[in-house]
Amino acid sequence: MPRTLNILYLASEADPFVKVGGLGDVAGSLPYALRALPGRKLDIRLVIPFHNAIPIDTFPMQRVTSFFLARQGADVQVEVFRTDIGDLPIYLISGDPIRDSEKVYDPDPRVDSEKYIFFSLAALEMARRLDWCPDVVHANDWHTAVSLYAIRCQADDPFWSQTKTVLSIHNLCFMGAGSEEALSAYRLPPVDDPDLPEWGRHVPMPLGLWAADKIVAVSPTYAEEIQTPEYGCGLEGFLRARAGRVTGILNGIDHSVWDPETDSFLAVNYNAKTLSSRNGIKAALQSRFGLSADASIPLFGMVTRMDQQKGVDIAVEALRSLPDEPWHAILLGTGNAELEIAARHLELDFPHRVTAALRYDGKLAHQIYGGSDMLLMPSRYEPCGLAQMIAMRYGCIPVARSTGGLRDTISDGRTGFLFDEPSAPMLAGALRRALSTFREPTTWKKMQKAAMAANFSWKQSARKYEDLYRSL
Ligand code: ADP
Repeated sequence: MPRTLNILYLASEADPFVKVGGLGDVAGSLPYALRALPGRKLDIRLVIPFHNAIPIDTFPMQRVTSFFLARQGADVQVEVFRTDIGDLPIYLISGDPIRDSEKVYDPDPRVDSEKYIFFSLAALEMARRLDWCPDVVHANDWHTAVSLYAIRCQADDPFWSQTKTVLSIHNLCFMGAGSEEALSAYRLPPVDDPDLPEWGRHVPMPLGLWAADKIVAVSPTYAEEIQTPEYGCGLEGFLRARAGRVTGILNGIDHSVWDPETDSFLAVNYNAKTLSSRNGIKAALQSRFGLSADASIPLFGMVTRMDQQKGVDIAVEALRSLPDEPWHAILLGTGNAELEIAARHLELDFPHRVTAALRYDGKLAHQIYGGSDMLLMPSRYEPCGLAQMIAMRYGCIPVARSTGGLRDTISDGRTGFLFDEPSAPMLAGALRRALSTFREPTTWKKMQKAAMAANFSWKQSARKYEDLYRSL
């Protein structure tokens, strides 16, 4: 019988406490899936910052410890709270650098570097104060990557001497640049190793990658892509040199949250045998947004952070190029101001055909997956992507760029439509293909059923993570 492993899982966001994007879904579901593995051989504990956006009253909190973290100038007080969901302990770390920041991800990099370096170090110190020694510290993205570097810097500390480290890359492009001051204030020196490009020796993500025993990209294709100049963000050489440590494990989705049979945000629940019920959800969306309620007009959906990465501009241009085809579109997203304006202009230029809902709206997201016919994901890069997996589970067919996790999860012509180059003409071509298939109801239904049958639950990937932890 393998012994229980202690896993400290650090993330900047986790559903249901706070969610901005896919990392929130992952941190809000993978730890449960790991705990639920038969045999209960992983004592995994989640740690997140106590962001201002987290509603205090919704979760019963217990204050478990308080201490000061050494920082140049003045030490900073840390308070740790605990709440449990099921049998998963969740620690929330509070302190001025977190309280002083309004947003989960602040537009000012100095605010975020102070906040997340504080958080990463406080999470490690918390484990020591609770006398709970992790066998593995698993960090996610740049926000928590520094914790792994800090462990390396404390290699002669007996508390950390046996601990192994894993860094998951959900998005390599965000590295935490501009953190020099905060790193130095928390006494984390630049790494002195020519393996890392000079610019990366004082940046959180490269430091975490340098320190990590294992590097996990969130899909097998992304694990390969980040070792190329096109996707490697300048770290491709370093990652190629460490290829033995790099692996790809596909994210999963929480089937209990994303299930059209039980989804309480949908006016009608359905499954693969009752697909026609989707028409009611579609009609409700059409009426609500001033589009004519007509099941025969295909409805495109988009649920996304509005970021260059996601190809919102490509989607807008492609839709503009298809005035001759019948379609409606609902674009749900918030973020980059220029992209929001582009979506708003599309709405103004195509009244009664397009709605731009420029906000974060969890309920509407569920309804878009449940009621639209196709989900547009023309991403320039996509480490894994959850939206396409959720869409497939809801019988909403993804039309997506063949990259990263999109390529690993969508089967072209069977469960979705893929195209190669991230450009409006290529997307428009794929949309025309999709539209012509939509006009063949039998083929369309077959695709919907195949998409719904694809299994993206965490079960398989959780096993892979357990194997990875044990291999360390
Ligand atoms: P990323 O992590 O790059 O943002 P993913 O596709 O992996 O992209 O995950 C996005 C997650 O965030 C999905 O659960 C999606 O439904 C959700 N989401 C994104 N934008 C919004 C929004 N504006 N309103 C509601 N949910 C959103």
